[in-house]
Amino acid sequence: MQKKRVVFNYPSHLVDQPVISKLVKDYDLTVNILRARITPKEEGRLVLEITGKRSGLEAGFRYLSEIGVETQPLAQDVKWYVDRCTHCTACISVCPTQALDVDRKKMEVSFNRDKCIACEICIPVCPYQAMEILF
Ligand code: SF4
Ligand code: SF4
Repeated sequence: MQKKRVVFNYPSHLVDQPVISKLVKDYDLTVNILRARITPKEEGRLVLEITGKRSGLEAGFRYLSEIGVETQPLAQDVKWYVDRCTHCTACISVCPTQALDVDRKKMEVSFNRDKCIACEICIPVCPYQAMEILF
């Protein structure tokens, strides 16, 4: 089984189509919606965690491409500006997935993109604007 965290960009004509249920039924994928911003008759953006067999994921992403849904890895939309980070650790206790973590011996903060779910909780907490979500 493989897991991917991705951003879907929906064109307006697909917003009311059962794209997600097709991924589940036809490609045997498990889809967890982490964030959604869809307005009827306008473009939409979804942050999803998709789990399934490699063959199902490949076929599912081919289907998405064919119908015009753009996909990109979630990591591209989440930025940690290491040069702004002062390692103050204010974000550590609020991050629900430990994407932001601290090495207690060195007191150095690190960011693991693969764990981030783009929940934005860290954004207002960081006093130095070191985290940014490009939505
Ligand atoms: S956006 Fe959420 S999951 Fe990602 S680093 Fe910030 S608090 Fe953690
Ligand atoms: S709150 Fe901001 S400056 Fe402080 S450790 Fe977290 S990312 Fe770095």
